[in-house]
Amino acid sequence: MENTHTTTQPAPAPRRTRPPRVDWRALMPAVTQLRMQGCSTRETARRLGLNIKTLEAYLRRHRIRHAIPMDRPDQVRRNCLNCDTAFVADGRFLRLCPECRAMFG
Ligand SMILES: [Zn+2]
Repeated sequence: MENTHTTTQPAPAPRRTRPPRVDWRALMPAVTQLRMQGCSTRETARRLGLNIKTLEAYLRRHRIRHAIPMDRPDQVRRNCLNCDTAFVADGRFLRLCPECRAMFG
């Protein structure tokens, strides 16, 4: 008789469709550099082989605004949340480029 149900093997854990963990400490210099060079979040993610959503979430969480040169203290360089176009917002609460703002306005 075969015993196919051994107790020594644990049941496989349910798979989650979670993205692989990213070593941000190692990646951050590259991310910062690409963004300083004017790469959009999308381009930065593509070059580093990251998921765009993963990078966006990270950047939002960690607010690396200070890493991006600004023209004036009251202006904030942003990438549009909708189309990812880089633009300069008049205030930190603006998150859509002028085009998208007009579209959603
Ligand atoms: Zn836009």
